[in-house]
Amino acid sequence: MKELITPVILLICSLFSAFAQTVHTLDFDSDNIYEVQPGDSLSEVAKKFDTTEEELIQANGLQSTALLAGQKLKVPFLYEVQMKDTIGRVAERYGSTAELIKNANKLSSPLLQPGMIIKIPPKKLAMQGTHILMTKEEFKEWLFNSKISRKIAIIQHHHTWRPSYAHFKGNNHFQLLNSMEHFHKSKMGWKTIAQNITTFPDGKIAVSRPFNMTPEGSIGAIANAEGITIENVGNFNAGNDVMTKEQKDAIIYVTALLCLKFNLIPSVDSITYHHWWRYKTGERVLDNAKDYEVKSCPGTAFFGGNCTKSAQKYFYPLVVQKMNEIKKQLHHQPFPE
Ligand SMILES: [Zn+2]
Repeated sequence: MKELITPVILLICSLFSAFAQTVHTLDFDSDNIYEVQPGDSLSEVAKKFDTTEEELIQANGLQSTALLAGQKLKVPFLYEVQMKDTIGRVAERYGSTAELIKNANKLSSPLLQPGMIIKIPPKKLAMQGTHILMTKEEFKEWLFNSKISRKIAIIQHHHTWRPSYAHFKGNNHFQLLNSMEHFHKSKMGWKTIAQNITTFPDGKIAVSRPFNMTPEGSIGAIANAEGITIENVGNFNAGNDVMTKEQKDAIIYVTALLCLKFNLIPSVDSITYHHWWRYKTGERVLDNAKDYEVKSCPGTAFFGGNCTKSAQKYFYPLVVQKMNEIKKQLHHQPFPE
């Protein structure tokens, strides 16, 4: 079969070469993405693409070396330099950096000549332990490429209360994550940090607890069973921290991406606030509890309030709008599972 298929593919390729440029500028590019096959190990994938396990871990924000079939990995690949290519443009197009490309190809000059074959290694993510710190765009790609084996049906929103904005210094994301992790393990007796996701006042997003682990503590077993927990750094009770625009955007963006990834329609059943759950029993009470039975989390001023009406009026519509924007950007491609 192979002998027959190859000429056909070649013909198709030459017919469509005029479109190659367009294809290369799309977000989803297959040259630098490898889809994990059943039985693949990280060491085998590393060998196959002439790289190391460590590089794949850092490029893909992997929290473990175990792979799941269907998961997508960014890998180094060989590229033939085209007319008008610059190292910066190639780096940007393929999620690399000029420095990485220079080093990988032992280039003494950043000037590229058409026809040169160069190796393009993927950019590394900022990681410490299982904490991965990302921009919104990096998180989108990380989530697209991930494969999650458990069912996710509820996105939970919290505020950290402490740490609040006073504790955020602009560059101490990992320090705050590590101290939350330490507190959750040593004081609460949990396996690791309770939350899957943390958002920061500067709009950065961290993934900490692996998505394949249910969240611990906080709302309780019922909400956690099919939950993803988001802790938003700050104290959003009225009169305290005023949420930055960057963090607002990050919260809306993350929630919209999760809804798309897990096929959720924003409602009180799919996007929940800690305030709606009785903290002693873990039962959902929505707005029908005495103040002392529930926490104010994610804050009485979180997107206009912490009751179901404020979520429906001030939060869900923003999430729906963002979901539509993202879907349009994807050029009508189905959202990768
Ligand atoms: Zn909470």
